[in-house]
Amino acid sequence: MSSLLIQNVRIMDGEAADILIRDGVVSRIAPGIEAPDVPVEPGGGLIAIPGLVDAHTHLDKSLLGWPWYKNDVGGASLTAMIENERNMKKSLGLDPHVQSMRHALKTAALGTTLIRSHVDIDTDAGLRAMEGVMETAARLADVVEIETVAFPQSGLMIREGTAELMDRALAMGADLVGGLDPCGVDRDPKGHLDTVFGLADKHGKGIDIHLHERGELGMFSMDMILDRAAALGMHGLVTISHAFCLGMPDFQRVEAMLERLAALDVRIMTTAPTSSPAPLVKQLDAHGIRIGAGNDGIQDTWGPYGNGDMLERAKFVGLRNNLRMDAEVKRALDICTGGGAEAMARPRRALETGAPGDVVLVAGETVAEAVVTHAPRKLVVKGGRVTARDGATLVAAP
Ligand SMILES: [Zn+2]
Repeated sequence: MSSLLIQNVRIMDGEAADILIRDGVVSRIAPGIEAPDVPVEPGGGLIAIPGLVDAHTHLDKSLLGWPWYKNDVGGASLTAMIENERNMKKSLGLDPHVQSMRHALKTAALGTTLIRSHVDIDTDAGLRAMEGVMETAARLADVVEIETVAFPQSGLMIREGTAELMDRALAMGADLVGGLDPCGVDRDPKGHLDTVFGLADKHGKGIDIHLHERGELGMFSMDMILDRAAALGMHGLVTISHAFCLGMPDFQRVEAMLERLAALDVRIMTTAPTSSPAPLVKQLDAHGIRIGAGNDGIQDTWGPYGNGDMLERAKFVGLRNNLRMDAEVKRALDICTGGGAEAMARPRRALETGAPGDVVLVAGETVAEAVVTHAPRKLVVKGGRVTARDGATLVAAP
């Protein structure tokens, strides 16, 4: 952990001040701080925001650095996309360590200092992806903090041997147990969820489940998830990613589910998708439900979109949720910084004493303008150490 004095920045577009980081933690924010023993970075009156947080991505599967991938599969069938990806990863010989280094450094250059990555576990590739992403996490520990989820992308019950691989991934240090559409992919919600919760219970770890199932089917799976979270006393330890079913039009049904989610302190991760129903920020905020946001996979066999920029993702959160007022746009950004970290049960990223010393300097007049234009990142600081300047990390990608 490092120490640094960042001089003359506007704290969340407010008054000019200096930020003193000592041993990786924000120790003081005030004008004219004197700290002769600490290196200095001039802030030049730029806006200071906390380090960005990508709370849902897939570092092992991006095709960054490869020639353009021509997508012939489309998005009509989840099963077809899963099969295609597993086969393409094998035929291309993708190296999960190299791909995760490229992806993590791309997003770190744009100000992300904390990532939760789902990592594929399947009977074709075994633990190769988890080993590669863990190697990246260790190598980039000073640049970006990476948390891993053991993710049964190809199904858990339909591919024998996957649960045993998940068990091994958790034993070797994966941070959370993943899951995926218990009805839609495995067509065995009881078997899938009993296995996921059984692994979490055995290893004493939290859960983050991809739930794309829409409407009543998603609500049915969500109820089964919450039954198990309640039975095992997993208050605050369960995350549901996507949760498209919460965007269904049945207001009373959704409100009742939100009450259940809030009572168990279940966290929701969203990409603020434009092509599907989605949980709504204001509705979740009214229930005090913690929300994080993520870029999900970027430039992979699933789709050509995504650039790893969580400031741009904040714009998508704002657009998807009709957040227009400056204070509302700041809430969209908070979901991509401090709120996202809290949803990951990590210390809140914030520009205040005692918070992690993760700071991003952005150009622009106001925070709302910086979000809307996803303004250039001039400086990124992680734990008091400068990690990127003018959109490029100091560590080179392979
Ligand atoms: Zn995902």
